Amino acid sequence: MTEQGISNLSNENRRFEPPAELAANANLTAEAYERASADRLGFWAEQAERISWSTPFTEVLDWTKAPFAKWFVGGTLNAAYNCVDRHVEAGHGERVAFHFVGEPGDTRDITYANLKDEVSQAANALVDLGVKTGDRVAIYMPMIPEAIVAILACARLGAPHTVVFGGFSSDALASRVEDCDAKIIITADGGYRRGAPSALKPAVDEALAKLGDTSPVQHVLVARRTETDTEMTEGRDVWWHDVVATASTDHTPEAFDAEHPLYVMYTSGTTGKPKGILHTTGGYLVQNAYTFWGIFDHKPDDVFWCTADIGWVTGHSYMVYGPLLNGATQVMYEGTPDTPTKGRWWDIISDYGVTLFYTAPTAIRTCMKWGEQIPAERDLSSLRIMGSVGESINPEAYVWYRDNIGSGRTPIVDTWWQTETGAHMMSPLPGVTSAKPGSAMRAIPGIDIEVVDDAGQPVGNGEGGYLVVTEPWPAMLRTIWGDDDRYKETYWSRWENLYFAGDGAKKDDDGDIWLMGRVDDVMNVSGHRLSTTEIESALVSHPKVAEAAVVGAADDTTGQAVVAFVILRESAGDGGQEVVKELRDHVGKEIGPIAKPKRIMVVPELPKTRSGKIMRRLLRDVAEDREVGDSSTLADAGVMQLISDGIGAGKGDDD
Ligand code: ATP
Ligand code: MG
Repeated sequence: MTEQGISNLSNENRRFEPPAELAANANLTAEAYERASADRLGFWAEQAERISWSTPFTEVLDWTKAPFAKWFVGGTLNAAYNCVDRHVEAGHGERVAFHFVGEPGDTRDITYANLKDEVSQAANALVDLGVKTGDRVAIYMPMIPEAIVAILACARLGAPHTVVFGGFSSDALASRVEDCDAKIIITADGGYRRGAPSALKPAVDEALAKLGDTSPVQHVLVARRTETDTEMTEGRDVWWHDVVATASTDHTPEAFDAEHPLYVMYTSGTTGKPKGILHTTGGYLVQNAYTFWGIFDHKPDDVFWCTADIGWVTGHSYMVYGPLLNGATQVMYEGTPDTPTKGRWWDIISDYGVTLFYTAPTAIRTCMKWGEQIPAERDLSSLRIMGSVGESINPEAYVWYRDNIGSGRTPIVDTWWQTETGAHMMSPLPGVTSAKPGSAMRAIPGIDIEVVDDAGQPVGNGEGGYLVVTEPWPAMLRTIWGDDDRYKETYWSRWENLYFAGDGAKKDDDGDIWLMGRVDDVMNVSGHRLSTTEIESALVSHPKVAEAAVVGAADDTTGQAVVAFVILRESAGDGGQEVVKELRDHVGKEIGPIAKPKRIMVVPELPKTRSGKIMRRLLRDVAEDREVGDSSTLADAGVMQLISDGIGAGKGDDD
């Protein structure tokens, strides 16, 4: 991607300074940038003191076999001990680790002491089921505390976990279980979603039936949540309440090498077939402990809530490892934001006095669609920092979030990172940065990021290019599970010694970075390269639009044509031809005539992954009248049908 034709976002000139009190007491200060750039590895060695090592490391980084990294060489530690036991030993056993809120309204507070007992019991039960260090365990669970316990029990045993999103089909589960060669599946009878129990165990049975004789799975451990009738296969399936709840609460954690595999997480599959990303122990924990402390400015009295599902990397890094390493108190919520009312999230924030809140732009846009009246009726004054992750947050959504959820004063940390990076890489610092809505700003202290051109050379300010990481970082992926060649090829082959993230980005006149969308999604219209993010942001800035997705569809005259799918705000009625014209003109005015969508289709929903990301490749299939491709990672399988029905019913519009 080159600068040519990438339109200009510099009409965004709003800035938000950190509140004075936050700035005065911030954990992470501007000085950290200097310290880290003066001695990057020394900086990371200091961050490594945030966790407890059984054996100290002797070398911070071994990069001699690049791109295969070893961090904190020679160190040994136990991840679960670091997340749980040491807080109990330090006298914080009575501190709440999780305020669990079930969708039907049941609640449960779990202290660090409770968590230590339950994790120990689960570890003992897994050992009894034959799990040994190094064995893989698949976790396919709803958002209930047992999911966290299961993850930590695996970590405690050095048995890498692979969490599969509970909303995925049996096919998706089967392929991951097979790819990872998982010995055990931990699941539940079901969970509550949209006001009703939703069964999970039958999908496990289906997945195992599909794998048949080749199935690596020896046992299925089933937690009870919905108490619905559940078929259990004799000899293979066991209940959590039979084997975990009755197990001993004594379990001595063993120390593992810093490079011992911690987990495999499959990417969202936004751009293609999901990849099994391998994270190891020491470096991953260090960067997560550091970023949770610094980017969320975590203080002991904070109540943190990350709305991500446990099946996404954000659920791993910022619901399990980062917060627990810091001894944080969190909220965990089982269900959907609109059950029983569209104010559910805001009720939870006011009930628990949530101070730090982390969600995705898609959720914010959904709340925009529902209207500001809903949050306005709740007391959200406890919030002091809010985060965003998953895609660029459109300036419009950013300002709405800040004004309506953040009482017009709460800073937003727009955190750019990936499954592959394991932890935050780019973000404003909440107590330091004068933030610009829509920009992830710059690399956090300790991380080195550039925007480069086709030749791998840094672009100048005001220019666009490819986002790369220029130095290895502690939480980096170590490989793609079972496929070292694909790891090298996917991330390290484009330029020597640069990690290519797959995202396009632009530096503004101050050198701050704006994410422009996936390089794969960049559109080429009559030789002009257009960013999906910019056109989507322009659409969302129109008062009638709640959400937008833009794709390039093959076009005989222009090469590609811009095709937009939009969801209207509830206040906008159901659209019609006038809206379509209005929106086209709006984009033309905001960006330029070249960016005007050739077609705009008003749709009720957009195809999203489990993490709320739009799967543009499926929309491209619709726009090009093809059969839609692999949709196995769609959060809601019915959406594509809804979209094509809507288009069939004439809700779309041609130029
Ligand atoms: P796949 O790699 O399988 O296509 P994916 O990239 O969607 O899936 P994730 O690792 O969950 O899987 O997402 C990381 C990507 O999300 C980033 O590469 C980037 O495109 C986008 N992203 C995450 N956070 C931000 C952010 N704050 N601003 C802009 N984009 C973001
Ligand atoms: Mg990706």
